[in-house]
Amino acid sequence: MKHIFLFLLAIGTFNIAFAQEPKPEDTEVWEPQPQKVTPGFIYAPPSDAIVLFDGRDLSEWQKPQFKSEKGTLKEIEQDFAAMDPNFEHGSADWLVEDGSFTVVPGTGAIETKRKFGDMQLHIEWLCPQSETKTGQNYSNSGLFIMGLYELQILNNYKSKTYANGQAGAIYKQKIPLVNASRPPGEWQMYDVIFTAPRFNKDGSLDSPAYITVFHNGVLVQNHVKLDGPTAYIGKTYYFMHPQKMPIRLQDHDNPVRFRNIWVRAL
Ligand code: MG
Repeated sequence: MKHIFLFLLAIGTFNIAFAQEPKPEDTEVWEPQPQKVTPGFIYAPPSDAIVLFDGRDLSEWQKPQFKSEKGTLKEIEQDFAAMDPNFEHGSADWLVEDGSFTVVPGTGAIETKRKFGDMQLHIEWLCPQSETKTGQNYSNSGLFIMGLYELQILNNYKSKTYANGQAGAIYKQKIPLVNASRPPGEWQMYDVIFTAPRFNKDGSLDSPAYITVFHNGVLVQNHVKLDGPTAYIGKTYYFMHPQKMPIRLQDHDNPVRFRNIWVRAL
């Protein structure tokens, strides 16, 4: 009897020891499986992208009501709060030709009809060559994510400007890791991963915005934490805004061109 008891005790101890031994499959996660996506060729849109410009028309774009860019963040915040919910958006009237569209200086910014928060975005742009323009006036535009956070578009291949105002910069906030610019007159690309900020019900910040940017395939912003919306003058801070907002392109009085724009909402 005693021998049987000891035998059973030994088996039990062995089983407990065996059960606690980690196995490779313990850390395998099978569900949920990531959704199957067909990748595009090079930079053509993948199958689940929302195409914002495919070379044909600006049907995904409109004139924005909110286009505040200049001045302090306080002024931008006031413009944002003063928006009219019954505003009638006109159609975007930048020039579409040869599979791209061009800023028509003086007509103002354009924005997407759709609203986006967290996203992966691809956009191609071209800064026309100039013999006379310099600094911030040399083919300036801008990609305003959520209409508030500007990824600068500018020719600074050789033309010099302030480091936090050049292509690849989050304007006046984050200097790009390198200058990956191509010469003016050549097509360039941004690939962006953006995490929108979150706000608490009382309007306070829950979590800030983060951005990763590839400029012509080169990493220039590596999961950078943003301090707030883009302000032309003075420091920035966060103010509460919706979880999804339009993407805006800047009219900075320069005929910058765009093509092949697509977004994957995350
Ligand atoms: Mg700009």
